[in-house]
Amino acid sequence: VFDNIRSALARFLKGGDYEKAVDEFIRELQKELVRADVNLKLAMELTSRIKERALKAEPPPGISRKEWFITVVYEELTRLLGGERKPSVKPAKKPWVIMLVGLQGSGKTTTTAKLAYFYKLEGLRVGLVAADTFRPAAYMQLKQLGEQVGVPVYGEPGNSDAVAIAVKGVEFFRERKMDVIIIDTAGRHHREEDLLEEMKKMSEHVKPDEVMLVIDAAIGQQAFNIARRFHEATPIGSIIVTKLDGTAKGGGALSAVAATGASIKFIGTGEKIDELEVFNPPRFVSRILGLGDIESLIEKVRRVQLDFTEEDARRLIEGKVNMRLVYKQLVSLRKMGPLGKIMQMIPGLGVKIPFEVDSKQLEEKMSKWLAIINSMTYEELDNPDIIDRSRMKRIARGAGVEVEDVKELLKQYELVKKLSKQLRRKDVLKRLGIRP
Ligand code: GDP
Ligand code: MG
Repeated sequence: VFDNIRSALARFLKGGDYEKAVDEFIRELQKELVRADVNLKLAMELTSRIKERALKAEPPPGISRKEWFITVVYEELTRLLGGERKPSVKPAKKPWVIMLVGLQGSGKTTTTAKLAYFYKLEGLRVGLVAADTFRPAAYMQLKQLGEQVGVPVYGEPGNSDAVAIAVKGVEFFRERKMDVIIIDTAGRHHREEDLLEEMKKMSEHVKPDEVMLVIDAAIGQQAFNIARRFHEATPIGSIIVTKLDGTAKGGGALSAVAATGASIKFIGTGEKIDELEVFNPPRFVSRILGLGDIESLIEKVRRVQLDFTEEDARRLIEGKVNMRLVYKQLVSLRKMGPLGKIMQMIPGLGVKIPFEVDSKQLEEKMSKWLAIINSMTYEELDNPDIIDRSRMKRIARGAGVEVEDVKELLKQYELVKKLSKQLRRKDVLKRLGIRP
């Protein structure tokens, strides 16, 4: 899956005709979204919006149309999930009454305890209400978790009136001046209607400040309908996606967002009490797309663009390679880190940069190379061809390195020069979006 988008991205960046490349990428993205359990209709809407933007608007100056297109993809996906900013999780008033709803096994009880722990660490006083009367063991489960976290739990084992317990529990903690009150509810009844009816009644009587829908990341395509049914019973204020530590990509959560209009606030990343994170939209987008970290990819595209100016591109293509250009190339490579392999596509557009990027080795070499560059004269930097054996010795001495190290850097220069020759044979100016 990773490879699909990755290669789609590579193909996109390489592809000649922009509109055709956009079409192809969009198709791949649709497939990928559906594969990640995003609702089909949602995937279509999203991709057509992306396409519309990509074909209509002009990219800002200094950014090629293709780079900009990737940014649009990322922006639209992120926007759907609530934008770049992390969601606000601070209670707007005290006490803040949260009611967790969701199917049996989605992780409500665990998440109730996780939230208690989270808010306790924020310095807030938390009380938990055990209002799942369907499962006999539910009260004990929450009681034990409450003890583990060190927060009180209100429950009435034996009483099957979940709504009454919820109302009394909230009252109990209100009187005790708790800052956050969290109600754990049932996830199953004899019939689904009974469950939804109970949730509706409970929220009407308790009037919670926030109803959180707990969704298992692995629920897949069902997420849309489940979320909608809960939303109809009791308006969902926010979403928590659990079990994102598993293999599920959580695309279903996107559908839940679409079905409720609510945003994701937290994600569960394990069974342990502290395995709850405030939701980070860009990271989630990367996960859904199967791209390691599209956030940094975008940033890197921008940085490479900065390092590698049109002037540089022109120099490379015209064969006017100098040491400064070589060094910039090397610095860019270092910045690219583990994504270097993909990003190699950018400067040469499909022409593989003819040296291996081994980041650890590169780090060591970078500092040497910097020293070497610094002990070169301007003349040598502009025209490395004049560097003979005796100059090499002088440079090595000045940099505090071996002559071999200087030789190696000069070898990189030769390689870039060779690359430059290769590039000249291709239609690179056009592909880089540079108008001669
Ligand atoms: P409930 O029926 O909705 O109350 O679900 P529970 O809280 O009882 O959780 C069901 C199972 O899911 C338990 O085994 C939990 O340990 C597990 N679980 C809950 N959240 C997560 C999570 O974020 N990651 C993982 N791996 N397991 C989770
Ligand atoms: Mg439970």
